[in-house]
Amino acid sequence: MFSLFQQRAAAAPDAPFLIGPDLSVLSYGAALGRTAQLANLFAARGVKPGDRVAIQAEKSPDALLAYLAALRLGAVFLPLNTAYTPAEIRFFLGDARPALFVHRPEDEPAMIALCDELGIAARLTLDAAGQGSLAQRADAQPVEAPVAALPGDALAAILYTSGTTGRSKGAMLSRDNLASNAVTLVDCWRFTSADVLLHALPIFHTHGLFVATNVTIAAGSAMIFLPRFDAAELIRLMPQASVLMGVPTFYTRLLAEPAFTRETAAAMRLFVSGSAPLSAETHKAFARRTGHAILERYGMTETNMNTSNPYDGDRVPGSVGFPLPGVELRITDPETGAAVPDGAVGIIEVRGPNVFQGYWQLPDKTAEDLRPDGFFITGDLGQVDPRGYVTIVGRAKDLIICGGFNVYPAEVETVIDAVPGIAESAVIGVPHPDMGEGVVAVVQARDPALDEAAVLAALSGQLARFKQPRRVIFVPELPRNTMGKVQKKLLRETYADLFA
Ligand code: ATP
Ligand code: MG
Repeated sequence: MFSLFQQRAAAAPDAPFLIGPDLSVLSYGAALGRTAQLANLFAARGVKPGDRVAIQAEKSPDALLAYLAALRLGAVFLPLNTAYTPAEIRFFLGDARPALFVHRPEDEPAMIALCDELGIAARLTLDAAGQGSLAQRADAQPVEAPVAALPGDALAAILYTSGTTGRSKGAMLSRDNLASNAVTLVDCWRFTSADVLLHALPIFHTHGLFVATNVTIAAGSAMIFLPRFDAAELIRLMPQASVLMGVPTFYTRLLAEPAFTRETAAAMRLFVSGSAPLSAETHKAFARRTGHAILERYGMTETNMNTSNPYDGDRVPGSVGFPLPGVELRITDPETGAAVPDGAVGIIEVRGPNVFQGYWQLPDKTAEDLRPDGFFITGDLGQVDPRGYVTIVGRAKDLIICGGFNVYPAEVETVIDAVPGIAESAVIGVPHPDMGEGVVAVVQARDPALDEAAVLAALSGQLARFKQPRRVIFVPELPRNTMGKVQKKLLRETYADLFA
């Protein structure tokens, strides 16, 4: 990615790269100079090619440019979720052993002690406004620096997975993994240097860090770089932009704003959704409001993006589209690993230049999930329809087995979400004395008068009996992490004794 960035900066140094909420511009040329300053600073602090540079900092231009600076130096970038507590940070730093750790100034006392304990030699601070020792010292560095010449299979980043199904794992991503996916997506999503991406995602996760940033760089586009998602801010800035990449909650929150109208989105050419399932209901409601069909795609930390709905052609609600060019996708039997018959549900496996090199320091887990022939076992269940569209029916770990029958949560959720008065739902299985697992629907209602009996009545006749929830539980809001992923593990724990 760094050579692509360098090429863009050489071709159009004055072109905007990052645009602030106040419309201030950081050009490609200026950003390139800043990566030199940061790379020089990292090198001065003892970072060598192959060393990890870890960062837990609020989103700011320097926090993003630290990624490009690490690439420039040949170091391995390792961003950490800003929500991680010091105890969690101890685990990640102990696991990754970085040469340098960039953290928030307010965490300094705890981080000095932790770095001493773990033998991490260098620290720098960076706050939400971009201030701290990182900025201060980088300012004093020259704006020229060497660019590491490393092979495409050299590590570019270790990115930890979201921890939705268990402890987060460090995915080792090579330089080619990142660049190949970015170039493919530019083509598929028709990015050009005229595009302006509204960037409201966090930059510690693959969506905001790699999909959004790498596609922008590969196309020479600009990003309106916002500290966080704020519906009013997005509505204010949308007329200056052409593309939004969001998680599904961005879209439900935008739709909740009466000020978000067809006119707001008139200058936009593309809305992309991913990281969690976008409900067909939201897809349709968004199309009614704006005239835009959201383009849903499917990816993960380990692989970048795997599938996408088409730019031209049907963007099918509830589907994640076709495998990307260069990505092979197959559906296999979870027990035997053999290919399933056409159209049947099984585990999604993918192979391509996007697939990671393995989990950092977890050789057993790597051997379990990466087949010798190069296919990665995603852990997601899906099926392919006759037209080739892929649909995700849930994660293998969320599959419910009720009385010996498989119940795929996404299928049940789609039917529940269409019941008038339901905002959204999460379907889980919890221990049941007779059935093994009992199907439970946890729902957020839009209509306060809706009750359990009414929902169950609405579902009867729409789903086979074994798929129908035995209980419907109303909650004010579904528990989600920062990427808008519903925390089903947490829900299963909460309702574990429901049928006891
Ligand atoms: P962990 O692997 O630690 O349990 P995680 O899988 O949530 O966490 P990520 O790599 O952030 O970590 O997320 C990838 C997962 O997100 C995919 O495996 C898939 O389950 C889900 N996902 C991504 N895009 C979509 C989509 N469009 N529709 C449905 N699910 C999606
Ligand atoms: Mg995962």
